[in-house]
Order: sequence, then structure tokens, then C-alpha cells
Amino acid sequence: MSLEKATGLIIRTTDWSESSRIATFFTKEFGKIRVLAKGGRRIKSNFEVALDLLSVCSIVWLRKPQGGLEILTEARSEERFNGLRSNLPNLYAAYYLAELVNEGLQDYDPHEQLYTHTLEGLRLLNAGGDPIGVICWYEMLWLTELGYRPRLNECGSCGQAILRASGLNYSAGAGGVICPSCAPSIKDKRPLSAEGWRALVELEKGHVSLTYAQRHELKSVLEQTVCVVLGKRPRLADYIVA
Ligand SMILES: [Zn+2]
Repeated sequence: MSLEKATGLIIRTTDWSESSRIATFFTKEFGKIRVLAKGGRRIKSNFEVALDLLSVCSIVWLRKPQGGLEILTEARSEERFNGLRSNLPNLYAAYYLAELVNEGLQDYDPHEQLYTHTLEGLRLLNAGGDPIGVICWYEMLWLTELGYRPRLNECGSCGQAILRASGLNYSAGAGGVICPSCAPSIKDKRPLSAEGWRALVELEKGHVSLTYAQRHELKSVLEQTVCVVLGKRPRLADYIVA
């Protein structure tokens, strides 16, 4: 057994007993880890901080070499997103980001860049940023980080360069934009507007402010892709309204 130190965001909590809880942290240094916080459910717990969802803490825990439940020994608060408490759409968006991390990553598989982007997304949501804009931006980063970046500049099926924005489709199963010649043979295709395609291309480069029509289209296209990658629909997806 060894003591490990890290900074991490709480992405899930589960009650373990009357007084203890299991907290899943997305740490910068180690990726996702799960630790038992003995007494972590008590208001006056052994820790200097309440172990709530979306808190960023610096932590120390006892790591077991052969798996098994690891034990949290210290937790100190580093950052909280209190602005989310009074903004329900943004709170749900923040929970959605946490769910994507929890479902998408394996334990002890570090993704430092995604960690940085996750905190950036939460800070934007905390400051009242557009939840759909943040979600679409984050989904694109999440897909890229996991190796599923949608193909936008070439056809997801035949690989030909996409030169015109008209007559395009999108297929989550094929992993990107579908050219007009391939469209008839792709089952899960959906039309992709020229505006939608341009917005996706821009989204790859960073934040964009989305028009009303783009919000609906991009949210639906990216969410579909996330569902294909996860093999299921995220639980929080039902709470996100474009
Ligand atoms: Zn094609």
C-alpha cells in the first residue's frame, strides 16, 4: 500500500454506509479514482471539506496494489462552483459533464488535458455561460480525447474530402459527415445543414456562440455520437434542454 496525493474533481458519490461514502474523483495526476471516505457522510466529518459532487479537492489516499477499495485519508477544498446552485440548467449541464467523465474514463488512466477542459467548462457554467454551448464544446473535446473525434472535413464513410457544405448528412455510427454519394447506403444518417456543418468545424477550434437553430442541431448530432461511443444514453441527457 502507498499514500498518493492529487488534486481532483468529485464526479460521483455513492453512500456506502450510514456514515461513509464512496467518492469518485477525476484527478489531474491519475485520472479517475474511487475512494472510500470513512465518516464522509457526517456533517462534521473527518475531512476539512464536505465531499459533494463537483467540489475540487486536494486529497491523499491509501492506494491498494491489487485493486480493492482505496481509503481517503485527507481532503482539502480547492475550488467550489457555488454559482451553479441558483442556476438549474447550468447545474444539470455541469452534472452532465461529470457523467461523461465518469462513464468515459477507466480508473487510473490520466487525461490531463481533459481535466483542464472539464474545470474550464465548469467555470464557464458557474459564471452563467450558455449551457448548450458549453456542452457542445465539451462533447467535441471529450470525443477527441477518447479517440472518437467526428470526421468533418472528409466523408466518414468513403474518406473523400468534403468540399461543399450542401447536401451533407451526418452519421454517428460512421463517425462523421457523410458525402452525398455515400448517403443512400448509410442507415443512421441525418441531414446536416450547411450552417450546422460550419459550426461543427468551428467548434473543433474552440468555443463558439451558437444560433438558436445551430444549438438544436449540434446538440442532437453530438449527443447521438456520445451515445454511440458509450453504448447508452447518458442519464443526465434528459435534463438538458436546447
Ligand atoms: Zn462518402
